[in-house]
Amino acid sequence: MKSKIILIVALVVFMILAGMPLYQQRNFEEKIITGDSVVDVFKLSKYFEPLEGTVQDTNVYELKGEEPGGKVLIIAGTHENEPSAMTFAFFMVENMKVDKGTIYIIPHFNRSGSLGTQAGGGFPLYYDIDTEWGEKVFRFGDRGLQPLDQWPDPDVYVHYPEGQLLSYIDSRNTNRTWPGKANGTLAEQTTYAAMQMIEDEDIDIVIDLHEAETMYPVTNCIVVPEKSKPYAIGTSLFVKGREGFENHVEPSPTGYRGLSHREIGDYSDAYPFLFESPGAHLDQITAGKTVDLIVSGIDPFIMEAEKKGLLFVPYDENGFSMDRRVGQHSSVFQELMSQWSKKNKDKEVIVEVPKYADIVENGLGYYFKNPDEVDEDLVYIE
Ligand SMILES: [Zn+2]
Repeated sequence: MKSKIILIVALVVFMILAGMPLYQQRNFEEKIITGDSVVDVFKLSKYFEPLEGTVQDTNVYELKGEEPGGKVLIIAGTHENEPSAMTFAFFMVENMKVDKGTIYIIPHFNRSGSLGTQAGGGFPLYYDIDTEWGEKVFRFGDRGLQPLDQWPDPDVYVHYPEGQLLSYIDSRNTNRTWPGKANGTLAEQTTYAAMQMIEDEDIDIVIDLHEAETMYPVTNCIVVPEKSKPYAIGTSLFVKGREGFENHVEPSPTGYRGLSHREIGDYSDAYPFLFESPGAHLDQITAGKTVDLIVSGIDPFIMEAEKKGLLFVPYDENGFSMDRRVGQHSSVFQELMSQWSKKNKDKEVIVEVPKYADIVENGLGYYFKNPDEVDEDLVYIE
């Protein structure tokens, strides 16, 4: 009897010790600094009340120019294990000057996903970006909502409203639950809230930021439905000519439901664009899933795969760093804005923010101020 009690006590102590880091990560506060163009910060539940108070009631940052113009929604953190999306959002909120138009930025769209790392994937709980004042730390998250926040999974996920049968795992994937469902799961309610926002605010362009494997064909690209294609093609060509990097265009399949680049286009007047940058840490064949791999994108096995011609991205011993990935997102975004503005004079969007070459040269960390040294009214918790 006594030995059983000792065993149970030891087990409980072990469970508490093992759970502590996960508990701490779930409560870890990232700090985001609002730049000069931010005019308002509010919650996504503004557009759909039932989201209020839930883990998915995420922050929306509104950046406005002196002149009215087009309206853009930038979504980061659909997949919280694709970190250049989030670091790009932080960079934009802090550094972008909007001269014309309105830009809404959501840094953690699937906020639940950011509150726990990828179970069983061997990934760290955090990653960090070097700055002049120390390390800026971010939570490393998962692809879907945490089971803690949406459970149990169905045997088969039935997409609403199209009725397509998808993998059970995608019921927690906010890039399979568009256009959402008011009385659906938390994931469906999250995309539903965003669709309400797109409608209420008359959003012209929605950009959903992602990363994909270097060995997967749909990477280093812009995924678009037919109506967004002319803008994406112009962006891809000009970015290559002006800034020297590849970013091809991929068509959004018409028969594959639930994805932002499909449903936002079909269920609203907005033009959707999904940006993919290459995240080597997502490939199956890499060595340890370390912070260094996530940030530098350097991996010996990916390098071997490159030699065998197995990659879909340009890759050498310098890897595909966070600086490069965020730099690409920035340049592709700005080129898209100029392509859009050329054809929509009444809805122009004019912004100023560093592009690819500057970000790669200075390093992303150069653009993050120390939250402890700025006016505390400017600092928000993510
Ligand atoms: Zn993704």
